[in-house]
Amino acid sequence: MERTLFEEDHVLFRDLAREYNEREIAPGYAGWEADHMMPRRIWKAAGEQGLLGLAVPEEFGGAGMPDYRYRVVLDEEFARSNHLAVALAFHLQDDLVLPHLLAYGSDDLKERWLPQMVSGDKVTSVAWSEPEAGSDLRGVRTKAVRTPDGDWLLNGQKTFIGNGISGDAALVLARTDSSTGRGSGDSFSLFMVEKTDGYTTGRQLDKMGVKASDTAELFFDDVLVPAGNLVGLEGQGLKYAAEQLPQGRLAIAVASSAVARAVYEATRQYTRDRAAFGQRVADFQNSRFVLADILTEVEVTEAYVDSAVLAFNAGTLDAVSAAKAKLWASERVKSITDRCLQLHGGYGYIMEYPVAQAFLAARLLTIFGGTSEIMRDVIGRSIAA
Ligand SMILES: Cc1cc2nc3c(=O)[nH]c(=O)nc-3n(C[C@H](O)[C@H](O)[C@H](O)COP(=O)(O)OP(=O)(O)OC[C@H]3O[C@@H](n4cnc5c(N)ncnc54)[C@H](O)[C@@H]3O)c2cc1C
Repeated sequence: MERTLFEEDHVLFRDLAREYNEREIAPGYAGWEADHMMPRRIWKAAGEQGLLGLAVPEEFGGAGMPDYRYRVVLDEEFARSNHLAVALAFHLQDDLVLPHLLAYGSDDLKERWLPQMVSGDKVTSVAWSEPEAGSDLRGVRTKAVRTPDGDWLLNGQKTFIGNGISGDAALVLARTDSSTGRGSGDSFSLFMVEKTDGYTTGRQLDKMGVKASDTAELFFDDVLVPAGNLVGLEGQGLKYAAEQLPQGRLAIAVASSAVARAVYEATRQYTRDRAAFGQRVADFQNSRFVLADILTEVEVTEAYVDSAVLAFNAGTLDAVSAAKAKLWASERVKSITDRCLQLHGGYGYIMEYPVAQAFLAARLLTIFGGTSEIMRDVIGRSIAA
């Protein structure tokens, strides 16, 4: 089926994204996978190319282009070349930190952070998960207590934090009431926490895939957070996170769909090039059937995710539809990369083949940003309601 998502401007933007990807990412990516770290200069180069913070209004240095289709283009370009770690690092900043600052940040916070995020001078992360609290954020124990001067003293520990080592600041979810155990809906607040005394990073976590991005533990030991770094109102952190969830989940659905398409195309080509028993692998009936299933799934996934993107642009993407998009697209790409790997035979198991990297990258997509089980729970509750 012909895809109708994009218009002429998106096609032009694709050229920019492709050029950036080929010039700035491709030459070094394999080395960054080995180092578990991408260099900061790629953020600066992305800023110069106009690829970051597209939704930021012009008064804060952005392009004022909230049209999510540009983000889809960017993801597709990263997925096509198997540079998903870069896509996900950008997502953390553009789909999680940014929307919270735009929606709830004071003018002072916006002035201090947005222009530098757009230019790529500053890199941020989202620090919600903790060793004892991932799916259930009411279990967050990191605590912020007001000082007599009205500032905050932050103590606690986070884990799985993308851009945690390379970044300059984190959007931290912390408990601000006196509750213990599972907090209530208004027990938590959000803070922009800059690297300063008492803010340390722990070990670099050794991920299965998307290794070129850093993922780390963070520790806060009596970190003094200025009063002005509270994002929005005290006690509203979980409410804000819930309100912005559709964008975070849409982002993962878009990445999943992009990887599914890319790995299908690569596998189709591989089965044409590879021969066995005197014929192309593509010509075995099994290969045709497997690829037929996969292509159908890729197109159906694109259709749902594309309509979620348009709904997001129109301001009508609700949390349940975003959960469906994430559940469907991430589960599909997990299964699609598995079947594509099988069609590669032994080469599919060798890391230098893109399908092996895509398989490992896809395995993350049903887990972070809310697991598939949590997505089913969200959807199931809406059915029961
Ligand atoms: C590579 C990577 C990068 C990440 N990046 C970030 C980041 O940048 N910032 C950040 O804050 N977090 C990040 N995360 C954390 C991620 O969002 C969590 O891992 C995820 O939400 C799951 O939480 P958990 O690991 O604590 O699993 P748990 O919550 O302990 O879940 C364990 C299992 O129980 C299931 N389960 C839990 N609750 C229910 C339920 N109610 N019903 C049914 N089943 C349930 C889960 O689905 C899962 O299968 C990242 C994780 C990874 C692996």
